[in-house]
Amino acid sequence: MTILVTGAAGFIGSHVAAALLDRGERVLGLDNLNDYYAVALKEARLARLLDRPGFRFLRADISDRATVEGLWPQFDDVTGVVHLAAQPGVRYSIENPYAYVDANVTGQVTLLEAARRMPNLRHFVYASTSSVYGANRKMPFSVEDRVDSPVSVYAATKKAAEMLAFTYSHLYRMPMTGLRFFTVYGPWSRPDMATWLFADAITAGKPIRVFNGGRMKRDFTYIDDIVAGVLAALDRPAPVDAETGAPHRLFNLGNNRCEELMRFIGVLELALGREAVKVMEPMQAGDVQETAADIELSRQVLGFEPKTPIEVGLPRFVEWYKTYHGIG
Ligand code: NAD
Repeated sequence: MTILVTGAAGFIGSHVAAALLDRGERVLGLDNLNDYYAVALKEARLARLLDRPGFRFLRADISDRATVEGLWPQFDDVTGVVHLAAQPGVRYSIENPYAYVDANVTGQVTLLEAARRMPNLRHFVYASTSSVYGANRKMPFSVEDRVDSPVSVYAATKKAAEMLAFTYSHLYRMPMTGLRFFTVYGPWSRPDMATWLFADAITAGKPIRVFNGGRMKRDFTYIDDIVAGVLAALDRPAPVDAETGAPHRLFNLGNNRCEELMRFIGVLELALGREAVKVMEPMQAGDVQETAADIELSRQVLGFEPKTPIEVGLPRFVEWYKTYHGIG
């Protein structure tokens, strides 16, 4: 019995893999270690997993159909899939659309094709994103809302991935759960995301770009809460969509507290012990004003309960950040 974790060298994937190993599962990690951001960081995350019994790693590109087909025989003992490999990032997607279609759409299909040939598969869990909700929608975002007006190429490809998963779930009766994550942060996070970018700038005394007067709101979610939600989704029995009868469900994993960016920066400044030099900039193309998760369904069905406010999570991130960079 093995859990396949794609994107295992990534931020969320490395935490999920570690948590699965902690509870005694065998984990097959898969990642192409691409250079969207520092490969050294991905290697460092991976090194912590490679040391552990029960972990095996495959370096492969999920957008390469022939490569993934070649791996099928290695998936015979896979009982669960946590599919997190993707090309993330909203702004980068405007300039690099093909990278998103390759990893998030073609990659989703190669994984689904592999999954339907896994003789022991019980559950396929995959990452989606709050970005699929788009702009100017009623708050908070609920999975019951129909979403079909993405603001970015990233969002469009993740929505496409959800639709492909839904289709495979009923065509092949494959139990599947899609999880829409809301702005995840914590130790070993991504250097292209706001928390890390702000920490770099504040530490170096350089200005930080604050978009839209810092009034943008995000449901910043701490990594441990996300991992708990992923494991809860993986463990539960086959889901059923009441409306369609398909064995597919979607859930929001958010913090249930929407924070103004300015307050988030304030807590980060406090944790770093330094004030930020702020440069105000207008709203960026592809960005949305507010993301807030309705997590009622996740509470009821998954028992999901986010436990970490930013006052607790940001100091943990800063402690890790200082150690990683050797800052005293
Ligand atoms: P990440 O970039 O740190 O991890 C993704 C990993 O996938 C990387 O290690 C990358 O090398 C790998 N990968 C990318 N393309 C690949 C390919 N073609 N073949 C094999 N491996 C490939 O990102 P993350 O923040 O850990 O995100 C994980 C998942 O969660 C993604 O699906 C992302 O869309 C979703 N998500 C993340 C956030 C967030 O705030 N971090 C929010 C919403 C959704």
